[in-house]
Amino acid sequence: MISHFEFGEEFDSALLANAPKVRLSRRGIIMGLAAGTVFPFVSGCTTNAATGASQLLLFGDDQVASMAATAWTDMKAQTPQTSNSKLKSRVLSIWDRTINGAVKEGHISPTAQWDVAVFDTDDVNAFVMPGNRVGVYRGITELTENDDQLSSVLGHETGHVVGKHAAERLSVSTAAQVGLMAGQIAVASSDELSKYGAAIGALGGAAVQFGVILPYSRNHELQADKLGVDYMHQAGYDVKQSVRLWELMDAQSKGQRPPEFMSTHPDPVRRAEELRNYINARGYALI
Ligand SMILES: [Zn+2]
Repeated sequence: MISHFEFGEEFDSALLANAPKVRLSRRGIIMGLAAGTVFPFVSGCTTNAATGASQLLLFGDDQVASMAATAWTDMKAQTPQTSNSKLKSRVLSIWDRTINGAVKEGHISPTAQWDVAVFDTDDVNAFVMPGNRVGVYRGITELTENDDQLSSVLGHETGHVVGKHAAERLSVSTAAQVGLMAGQIAVASSDELSKYGAAIGALGGAAVQFGVILPYSRNHELQADKLGVDYMHQAGYDVKQSVRLWELMDAQSKGQRPPEFMSTHPDPVRRAEELRNYINARGYALI
């Protein structure tokens, strides 16, 4: 199952430079991990009912949600939220309509509750955290030209939720870390305990990274793009605007200040192309 690794770069701490500047409570996340079942992971492969993908999932939804709780609380405490009530209600209404598209698609429970924050910074970014937490920055609302484009961003983020991408990424990272630790113990059994401690520390680091915003694999991104378009279509938005969004991202990436969204969502030209093909193939529109 763990035969392909596209995740190596996630352990590169330089990538943290792209994460929002928040002070995460490491201890809380490590405690959450320690309370969870980190080690009995031999039978973690399941099939995602919405996407049909086979996934390694060592953690349940509740577990990853509780791991992200501290990061979310810290982020909300340390990043200003917009006081522009018009902007906030616009984002919320686009969110509601988009998520209802996912409900119509049968991928999201109609009773799910969401915590949506609109942060008042220039960052051209948006993200979801496990536990139905959604962050949208003012900057991305200013880059997008219309509600349809913002819906495509939010639909994409919803795709990450439905695909259980955060839990899968954390699971693969954890399996890699635990595997590494087992190897270390085998060669130096004299100080198992200290290595155990180091591994838990490393897991804490991985949780911090997954909890915030770091790149998903290319497969996760393409899957989220396509799911996002399905939800836009169900919600009655203009799916062609998802292609336009990536063209805008590409244009802006050539400027002096590339959008933060690009650092976690690379390759806009190819994605626009894939989306165009998908939209045509599904018969949503002809472009
Ligand atoms: Zn994404």
